[in-house]
Amino acid sequence: MSKSHFETDAIRTQIERTEFLEHTSPLYLTSSFVFEDAEDMRASFAEEKERNIYSRFTNPNTSEFVDKICKMEGAESGYAFATGMAAVFSTFAALLNSGDHIVAARSVFGSTHTLFTKFLPKWNINTSYFKVNETEKIRSLITPETKILFAETPTNPAVDILDLELLGEIAREHNLILIIDNCFATPYLQNPIKFGADLVIHSATKLIDGQGRVLGGITVGKKDLIREIYLFSRNTGPSLSPFNAWVLSKSLETLAVRVDRHCENALKVATFLEEHSQVNWVKYPFLKSHPQYEVARNQMKAGGSIVAFEIKGGVEAGRKFLDAIKMCSLSANLGDTRTIVTHPASTTHSKLSEEDRLQVSITDGLVRVSVGLENVSDVIADLDQALRA
Ligand SMILES: *Cc1c(COP(=O)(O)O)cnc(C)c1O
Repeated sequence: MSKSHFETDAIRTQIERTEFLEHTSPLYLTSSFVFEDAEDMRASFAEEKERNIYSRFTNPNTSEFVDKICKMEGAESGYAFATGMAAVFSTFAALLNSGDHIVAARSVFGSTHTLFTKFLPKWNINTSYFKVNETEKIRSLITPETKILFAETPTNPAVDILDLELLGEIAREHNLILIIDNCFATPYLQNPIKFGADLVIHSATKLIDGQGRVLGGITVGKKDLIREIYLFSRNTGPSLSPFNAWVLSKSLETLAVRVDRHCENALKVATFLEEHSQVNWVKYPFLKSHPQYEVARNQMKAGGSIVAFEIKGGVEAGRKFLDAIKMCSLSANLGDTRTIVTHPASTTHSKLSEEDRLQVSITDGLVRVSVGLENVSDVIADLDQALRA
């Protein structure tokens, strides 16, 4: 049989059926597994056979989830975590030694930024940053100690795009491990491994669950690197719970249809906002006006679910806009069935100075919309009345 397609893998990748011949995978809520005899137990602990021992190491539900994401990303191997941040932290902690150096894009998820600036330096691991529109400076930041090149694309919250092909080229040239947080794009829209990434990280909490229910994370990629991450994690305990893995594996069955609709709705919202008199500019990867439109077309299948725009009138206008919203949610999550609006300058990024905010493309009037799966005309009507208010 020829290689099956994304949607088919998402549905038909399934752990072995039990004697009950259940149609869909059951939930294995068990902390540990039993052995046939002393020899079975010895061989299992010696890793001479691949089998479940203890759910901190592996569990059938987490394995099914990992197998699916590996197929979707074209990865050799993977490990699933309790949260996206557990995936980010464990990946860096497993691969880096004291004295190692990271080169990263400045626009990274808030907690990842805190990890780089506050916690990794405790172990003498430091990070140098490049701005998303200054990728020509990346090479000059690399030192003999640099081990990892890290980026997210599209970025949060400004929806900038980084050129994965370029990052892959630089990583190869300098023998760096290229790690891409692919959370905003999902494995359906973008596969960084194709462009040279060694590891891909996801917060499964976002579009992979897609319904705002459970937290989860995953790292997939090269087998030898995942092996290090696995050994670190099986001993330190950031693993995904079987229940959340079961939920997330079911969620993946509908990822393609959900993300298709998210993208369709987001493009309509972006097009609407671009015409609006109260809006200075809109950023959406598949709008021709996006500064990295060509790059986005080259590496993404569609533009994703997140739209950024600048409301006229700065911080005050941003706050008023949030107060006038009737249907959409004011929430810190994204990639949900429910449309979510946030105003970074007065909330998530309010502790930064205006200058620091601008370093990561957050202007005072920037609004981020995570476009959901409601009827898009209702979303547009709500945004429109709030912009007019
Ligand atoms: C949310 C998010 C994370 C962290 O994931 P959690 O599941 O909340 O721990 C990491 N990276 C990006 C890009 C995110 O959006």
